[in-house]
Amino acid sequence: MSIWEETSLVDLALPGGWAATWTRGEAAVLTVSPQGRLRVTDGRLALETSAGREFDPGRYLWLGVAGATPVFAEVGETPGQVGLREALVLVGAADVELAMRAAALAQYHTENQYCPGCGARTRPADLGRSRCCDGCGAVHFPRTDPAIIVAITDGRDRLLLGHHEGWEANRYSVFAGFAEAGESLEQTVRREVAEEVGLAVGDVQYVGSQPWPMPRSLMVGFMATAASESVHPDGEEITAARWFSREELRLAVDQGEVSLPLAASIAYRLVTRWYGEPLPE
Ligand SMILES: [Zn+2]
Repeated sequence: MSIWEETSLVDLALPGGWAATWTRGEAAVLTVSPQGRLRVTDGRLALETSAGREFDPGRYLWLGVAGATPVFAEVGETPGQVGLREALVLVGAADVELAMRAAALAQYHTENQYCPGCGARTRPADLGRSRCCDGCGAVHFPRTDPAIIVAITDGRDRLLLGHHEGWEANRYSVFAGFAEAGESLEQTVRREVAEEVGLAVGDVQYVGSQPWPMPRSLMVGFMATAASESVHPDGEEITAARWFSREELRLAVDQGEVSLPLAASIAYRLVTRWYGEPLPE
């Protein structure tokens, strides 16, 4: 069972007739900064209409259909923009997807202005889904870096949570790390867990994924069972790790000892999947 598919609220397929919709002023434009910052008003992303704008394929980037509205992104700075992480806290599920995609595209187009093959300028192509090189004609697509994120349980159905060096003191989450070259995601799970907390894992099961454009990750979510109980945080990346029963987690959150991941994150979904009901706040 996937933990993510139920929130596919934005359709990436470009509808026929979108250009006429744009001309009628019925398409929407979301301004996103080169770093993925967005403006939020009243719990929604601040969309503007296409009314009065001439469509420019070098300027507007296709985001998808949200509700019945075709939505495009425009890269630019506007007053009141907040960071992507903050925007994700403020908006609802459909807007989370638009925000993720807008941030991913804005960063991609900002950072890939020159061709890695010949060094010439590149320009947005295919409504922003790729960039084309003026020099050699190569087409470049946005790159995504796969990372695993894994919730580990033990034989008594307790969940292991870790504290990352550099986080606020009480923040705990499941474990994550980038896939290395030539590695399968299952191997990444086993290596990361061994490196970060010195634990061997048995069964590894895929449960869902989430784009995480900070700046260009795809988080691939797993549940795994531990082959042992004894944990040894590496002391560098992970400075503390602890097994929680559901009751222990509820108490720890109540008492402020533990703060759980952002509700819009796959980390939160993984913890919820184990917990079995909405997490304590
Ligand atoms: Zn080139």
